[in-house]
Amino acid sequence: MEIKVTLTDHPKQKPDENNLGFGHIFTDHMFLMDYDDGQGWHDPRVVPYGPIPMDPACSCLHYAQEVFEGMKAYRTADGKIQFFRPGQNFKRLNTSCERLVIPKMDEELLMEGLKRLVTIEKDWVPSAPDTSLYIRPFIVATQAVLGVHPSAHYVYCVILSPSGAYYAGGIDPVKIYVETKYVRAASQGGMGAYKTGGNYAASLIAQEEAERQGYSQVLWLDAVERKYVEEVGSMNVFFKIDGEIVTPELDGSILPGITRKSVIQLLRSWGMNVSERKLSIDELESAAKAGKLEEAWGTGTAAVISPIGELKCGDTVTVINEGRIGEISQKLYDTITDIQWGRIPDPFGWIT
Ligand code: PMP
Repeated sequence: MEIKVTLTDHPKQKPDENNLGFGHIFTDHMFLMDYDDGQGWHDPRVVPYGPIPMDPACSCLHYAQEVFEGMKAYRTADGKIQFFRPGQNFKRLNTSCERLVIPKMDEELLMEGLKRLVTIEKDWVPSAPDTSLYIRPFIVATQAVLGVHPSAHYVYCVILSPSGAYYAGGIDPVKIYVETKYVRAASQGGMGAYKTGGNYAASLIAQEEAERQGYSQVLWLDAVERKYVEEVGSMNVFFKIDGEIVTPELDGSILPGITRKSVIQLLRSWGMNVSERKLSIDELESAAKAGKLEEAWGTGTAAVISPIGELKCGDTVTVINEGRIGEISQKLYDTITDIQWGRIPDPFGWIT
């Protein structure tokens, strides 16, 4: 399909690269494509960034039929722009589409569209240390009808946002609040494994409570027994217990993170054992009491690796590795970011 390009005649001023923050600044253009029943996905195009006109009856506004993705483009020292495993994001987008009954998309066309958009916006990819261009593809249901059923029209859109270093001054352990009242997603059969807005809406109340108590993110437990660890905020989670590296298995309620997948691959390539299994909060607390909870970290596109220094569950506060960055967390962070910014060769074929 031909991708039409309409350039803006009002380019914005580029922001200060040392003060980007996250998710506030958007580039000059966006990518759009429409879906209509009978026609399929059509009219891929790059257009000036701006509002998407929407009928107030659009089903995404009422019933949250929407999916999204999050990934980044990185500028290397020699000025090239590269993506980290973008094909995995488009594959996950299609998996989310399937669950939300949104018509699936041609992943090659999505990749071509992304390359076209980022090439047009190349001057927006920052080059200050640890900065990147955050990429947000999303699909919303746009049929104007209040009946609860899959929409007959959708819009696919990609917006871009230059983003700052997640950690100014090196990675820093975070304090985590274990949520025992609210759940993020139902177990098997729910939507936890898909990237859809409703899961994030469900998380806000717990995040607010965690912050009120001085914690930076929420650790979610399973919805049935409120016992097994699932994920941390918008990250997957790993623990090192008595030499074994454990991450919760993908049981249908956890988002299959691309950083998670890469971390498992990397650890195994270093000859380390990684178990994907059920892990209860009791097991973690007992391990900590026995001095065997050696390290913990979250994984995700935003922070890459986020060491965990403290867990609070009810009245029990567990300090991990004396609140310091663990050896494995640091090594994972260094290796993955070196690959992402092209400072070392990529032996896995992760870079596009
Ligand atoms: N879990 C949730 C709920 C998330 O939103 C994210 C961020 N996409 C992750 C895990 C980590 O996924 P990824 O490594 O693909 O960014």
